[in-house]
Parts: sequence; structure tokens; C-alpha cells
Amino acid sequence: MMKLFEQNSASWVRYSDYEWRDAEDGHSYLVPAAGAEPRPYDPLATGEQMVLDALEVGGLLFRHQPENEIKAAMREFACKYGLLGIMTALPTTARFMEINHVVLPKNDFIRDLTMPVEDYIHLFFPFGKPDLQSTEDENRFSTEDKYEVALFLTYEGYPQAQIMSFMRDYGERYEWQAKVFRDWAFTMATSFLYYEDKDKVDEHTLDIYRQGMAAFDENAPTYHIALLDKPTMVWDFHSLLLAIKMLLSMMLTDEEHPLRLCRQCHKAFISRSPNTKFCSQDCKKKYNAEQMRRRS
Ligand SMILES: [Zn+2]
Repeated sequence: MMKLFEQNSASWVRYSDYEWRDAEDGHSYLVPAAGAEPRPYDPLATGEQMVLDALEVGGLLFRHQPENEIKAAMREFACKYGLLGIMTALPTTARFMEINHVVLPKNDFIRDLTMPVEDYIHLFFPFGKPDLQSTEDENRFSTEDKYEVALFLTYEGYPQAQIMSFMRDYGERYEWQAKVFRDWAFTMATSFLYYEDKDKVDEHTLDIYRQGMAAFDENAPTYHIALLDKPTMVWDFHSLLLAIKMLLSMMLTDEEHPLRLCRQCHKAFISRSPNTKFCSQDCKKKYNAEQMRRRS
């Protein structure tokens, strides 16, 4: 499935620990825990597992599980992969610091479609205003934290906003993350059920499925061509969110190893043969035992 990514790697930052903190604006934010250390890693190296883990968090939302359980799953996800990078994923360009203006496509998160940079950034730094040195046409972030300085050196040339989303005070609010994870689970379920139900339901229901998929547009990652030993497409994700979205799209359209929902536990899994209905032998046994019990 990874043909488009064959030559690819990406880089993202995860801290060793995260915690939920309530801000004065009434929202709950997931932020790096005090004293946690940042580490860059390649999220594409374990891309499939990351998508499955994201779908599992989304599944909890889908099934209306208690908020504390969902928050624990989101924290665990962040400890494995870092935060989603919603700040750079939403605007039309991740380089908004460089042009000193934020432009957003129509979205479900923020109503204003253009914003001053400082107001926008404040939505992701609710506990400590970042130290911005602003000139008329550029904003520069400055820090004395040794880890943050190291991150600026490591990611030289990346959009300034992407590096800022690796900072210690950067956080993402619960409701926004919930929407992202829920949408992924919804997209996966819609695409799976459409083909499962195709012959069983009426045209009106199928149309609702199709409309559900149409909502999965928003921003896409950009790319450039790098002249390596041969010309190579390199994806510029600038957020974990767009990387996961792209990987999920690839996995949904993979005919050989399709993504499926387990008939027993309802978790997403990658099917190694076209007719597999269960994520594991265990689920298959449980399902068959239940069917037997029902029949007797
Ligand atoms: Zn299962």
C-alpha cells in the first residue's frame, strides 16, 4: 500500500509524557507533562499501526464511551506518537508565521476564516503566551529552553509554526482532538459499511454513505520533488494530522489488504485475505460461540 511513500520518511516530535490540564478559557488541553523530554521520530515507519491506534481512539468516541476513558486513550496515543499538530493542519499554509497572517478554509473548528497570527496562536498556547518577536511581515519565536533550542536547530528550514507545535507549552484542546479522531473512525466505518451493505440497503441509505465520505476533504498535504538517485516525490505533512489522514486514505483504498471492522469487537484491522471478518482467532471463536448460544 505504501507505494506513494516508498522513498519517504517524515519527522515528528513526541514527548516522553503528556497530561491533561484545564485552562482559564474553560477548555481542557493535552500538553507535554512537566519535565518530559522531546524526541524526534519518523511516524511513517510505523504508519499502519498509528492509523489503527487512531481509529481505536475514534471508535471510543463513536461508541460514546465515558470522557475519562477517551482522555486516557488520547493521552496514550500522544505518548506514542505526539500531538496531532492541529495548529499547522488547519490553515491554508503551514508557513503562516512567515507571512504574518492566518487564512483558514471553511472548517468545523474556528469560525473566523482570517485571523491575526497572535490570536490564532493563542488558541494553542493557553497557559503561557509564546515569546514572539514581530516585525511588520514576520513573526519569530524565541526560547531559552535547551530542548526547544535544539528542536529549532534540528528543524531548521521547516515552517516556524510546525516547530512551535513541538514546544513545551503547546497544547490541543479536547473537543478539537475528539472531532478529528471521531471523523477518522466515521470515515473508516462509512467506507467499510458501504460495501458491506451495498446489496442490502436502499439507494437513499447508500446516498447518505456517499455524502458522509464527501465531508472528508479539508486540507491535503503538499509535496515537492527531490532529486535523489532518481526524481522522488516527497510529502510535506507539517502535521501528524495530515500524515494520518493521508495514510488512512491509502489504507482505505488498498484492495489487496483492505481495512475492515471486526465483526466481534468492532475494532479496525488490516485484512490479510479478502474474506477475513475477524481481527483475531479469538474474536472469531467468541463470535461463533455466541451464535451457537443464540441458536440453542
Ligand atoms: Zn476483534
